[in-house]
Amino acid sequence: MIRVGINGYGTIGRRVAEAVMKQNDMKLVGVVKNTPDYKARLAVAKNIPLYCVDDSGVSKFRKAGFDVSGVLDDLLKEVDVIVDCTPGDVGKTYRERYFGAGVRAVFQGGEEADVAETSFVAQCNYERAVGRRSVRVVSCNTTGLCRVLNAFDTAFGLERARVVIARRAVDPEETSKGLIDAVVLDPVEIPSHHAEDVNTVLPHIDIVTMALKVPTTHMHLHSLILSLRQKPTREDMLKALSETTRVKLFWRSEGFKGTANLYEYGRELGRPRGDIYEACVIGDSVTVKDNEVFLYLGVHQEAIVVPENIDAIRALMGEASAEQSIKATNQSLGIV
Ligand code: NAD
Repeated sequence: MIRVGINGYGTIGRRVAEAVMKQNDMKLVGVVKNTPDYKARLAVAKNIPLYCVDDSGVSKFRKAGFDVSGVLDDLLKEVDVIVDCTPGDVGKTYRERYFGAGVRAVFQGGEEADVAETSFVAQCNYERAVGRRSVRVVSCNTTGLCRVLNAFDTAFGLERARVVIARRAVDPEETSKGLIDAVVLDPVEIPSHHAEDVNTVLPHIDIVTMALKVPTTHMHLHSLILSLRQKPTREDMLKALSETTRVKLFWRSEGFKGTANLYEYGRELGRPRGDIYEACVIGDSVTVKDNEVFLYLGVHQEAIVVPENIDAIRALMGEASAEQSIKATNQSLGIV
């Protein structure tokens, strides 16, 4: 059993913790939680041991009536891998502490790429992470893009990718940050950081990305224009996508006209929190003109990186091939 700890029990940490609990080859030793709130209470109800960042946190939690198993350094003594799910740029402040304890570390996409030895999307570059001390699971947008771009590159040769990303403004819970009543260029500069991030996983791809924030909380929507080396038919392209793991096709004839239907689909599916782990391609949008292909891609930002975190843990421990790990993760999370 791979012994796993999670530092940071927020949007991503909560999901990764529960995904770890579903793996036959992993044991969740505990999670580090900052605030003694209802989420901590729910973690206790799920029999998840709680740890605090430091002794002051322990006093705070005990005063609020929580049973605490220790501090982060105690957790690090008990685990093989720590999954850092703290907010962006906080993970790097813990890096030396993890390594000092002899623990392997998975970081998230809010960190700079140099926080870890390699950036990671399981179906693109699993092998590069095998046996390493640290890995960075790239952001939600980069994960969705890499899955689709890699599928086209492998099947037809990808000459160029141009992508406009409409980003959800905030996660549903982030009331302190808004919603917004505007379309905000985020960033104004072109390319946005997503292109560089894709290149940390697929370095050979010629890609330019542009990104803007829109007033929604539940999904990102990408508009892709890709130039291919070969001239496949539309059917060839749909076949390539349908045969790619963790990419799912959705159809207008079945009522999928945008992110609201995808969001509703996730909730009806009955997965925890309505999560959609797959990159969601609207099949009807796949359009071919000469060697160019156009399509829309939806990304459930809170969920898409969850399977990647599970595979990243296995890759660091070097105990499974990409195929074995992806299969085990998919089965445990209900990804068909
Ligand atoms: P979040 O704010 O929801 O959760 C972060 C958690 O860490 C919170 O529980 C917070 O209390 C805790 N925390 C804060 N400071 C801490 C510290 N110093 N030590 C320990 N815990 C601390 O953030 P999130 O959305 O889960 O993001 C986590 C990482 O995942 C970021 O790198 C982010 O960029 C990345 N990510 C987020 C999303 C998303 O849509 N939310 C998608 C993909 C990747």
